[in-house]
Amino acid sequence: MVEKKGIGVFPGIVIAPAAVFRHTILESVEHSLTDDSKKELESFEEARKGVLSELSGIKPSSDAERDMLSVYESMLEDPDYLALIRENITERRYTASWAVEAATEKYTSALAALGDSYFEDRIADIRDAESRLLSSIAGIATDIEISEPSVIIADYLTPSELIQMDRSNVLGLLLDSGGPTSHVAILAHSDEIPAILGLGDISKTANDGETVAMDGREGRAILDPDEKTLRSFRARKGAAAKVEKELKKEAALPAVTTDGHRIHLMCNIEGTEGISGAIAAGAEGIGLFRTEFLVLSSHGTEDKKTESSYIEAANEMGKYGPVTFRTYDLGGDKIVQGMDKREENPILGWRAVRFCMERKDIFRSQLISILKASAVSESVRIMFPMISGSEELLEVLDFFEEVKDECRKKGIAFDENMKVGTMIETPSAAITADILADYVDFMSVGTNDLIQYTIAVDRGNEKIAHLYRPLHPAVIRLLKYVVDSAKKKGVTVSICGEMAGNAEYAPLLVGLGFDELSMTAHSILEVRKRIRTLSAESCVDFADNVLSLPDATSIEKALGEYNGKTGYKK
Ligand code: PEP
Ligand code: MG
Repeated sequence: MVEKKGIGVFPGIVIAPAAVFRHTILESVEHSLTDDSKKELESFEEARKGVLSELSGIKPSSDAERDMLSVYESMLEDPDYLALIRENITERRYTASWAVEAATEKYTSALAALGDSYFEDRIADIRDAESRLLSSIAGIATDIEISEPSVIIADYLTPSELIQMDRSNVLGLLLDSGGPTSHVAILAHSDEIPAILGLGDISKTANDGETVAMDGREGRAILDPDEKTLRSFRARKGAAAKVEKELKKEAALPAVTTDGHRIHLMCNIEGTEGISGAIAAGAEGIGLFRTEFLVLSSHGTEDKKTESSYIEAANEMGKYGPVTFRTYDLGGDKIVQGMDKREENPILGWRAVRFCMERKDIFRSQLISILKASAVSESVRIMFPMISGSEELLEVLDFFEEVKDECRKKGIAFDENMKVGTMIETPSAAITADILADYVDFMSVGTNDLIQYTIAVDRGNEKIAHLYRPLHPAVIRLLKYVVDSAKKKGVTVSICGEMAGNAEYAPLLVGLGFDELSMTAHSILEVRKRIRTLSAESCVDFADNVLSLPDATSIEKALGEYNGKTGYKK
């Protein structure tokens, strides 16, 4: 029996067999020469055959996936590419992995030099094919085979890997890496998959098929638990199910404080499959539709699917409140074809509107899809991510106007009064919120990124997760400034980062003046329950006091005391 502690990102107690998976890390390819070229050549040929047979077993679920698989296959059959690899091994005495890496580099650089967006798209596929080859040479499985309901244990998972999995078989998630607001954590939350991240080396310790017991709330995972541990986990599983049932009973009640202050709770979704959960939780609209996840799940921008998903969301959620489409926040850890995976600092790099304003072909078709959805329901709103200041916002708004004009000319119907908003998730946007407020109808604070950029702490890095502190005074001051600026200018303001969905923070956010919060469906249940026990007046006094505190520790302590005093238990 081995116990591991990590960052619990979605509660739930699970006892199930483990499905263990590890990636090859491309950077770990050793550049060493071999004395046995024959053996390296055999290892490469075997790996190539293995990958080809693996690929032939995959049934593509979309045209984009079919295209991607065919690029993989053609690479692995390409005589020039293969000759280069073989030459690297036999003549230069490179190891098989190095030979593949060097050949791929040469190949992709030549394609990149052509400067054609078609080839840029292919480069991403070629790198994926390379990654499969390297994994196969290293003897590591590349596809997560989940043949029975299991707890997935992995070194890390990219958001696209998780969404491409058969999630009906994913009972829990245990990862070596990842921070509390990493995108894989957010997806686990949305899909209600109990998950623990930042477990260090669990993927090396665990054995495929062994029993695992996990508690997502406490962040505890136990490999090969003994009978006594199993009994205690089973008992707590029963108790947790009861609490959950009670929470669901309150879904129809309004989120109103004891002194009558109404807070609007909306839902964050990543696709239309989130709609039923949002309705069941009593969401008053969609505060954040992370549209890029549709692209990630389909390996490309499939306009027809995109359009019908937006229309479905507008139709089904419009009657409950706003339906907020955030334009593609691709980049960072959300990579698609046509993006360079190897940016030095992807989180500060070519992402969100920076990517969209260069790939206007992609952006235009998304804007048209959102405009079409606005014709279905006047609740549809559009919101732009990662805005860093008014100049960037104005450029994006100008382009949006251009696209609207095109639609008018083509007779495409849309809501001329559609509300336009900006995310506030960079410190520069927060500090200039008073200026940005002049150009938009609403603002939504993305605390996940705002905290990361304000404290300079990577939200996905478990090594520094203890430094990622939502209650840092710099963050609280920025929140206060944004809410005050928005209200002064008569602009609606909300929070759609994970902070909004943590019931512990509710007194502070209500006290700071946020009347709209957007979160996962599950969090709506918990936050509503918490808000119904709070007095708004007391929250305002509490927030005023917090604003005078000097550091995160004092604010955490003050909030802990306030929560304790007002009867809140985690
Ligand atoms: C945020 O940054 O808080 C946010 C809501 O956007 P995302 O988590 O998708 O980056
Ligand atoms: Mg963000």
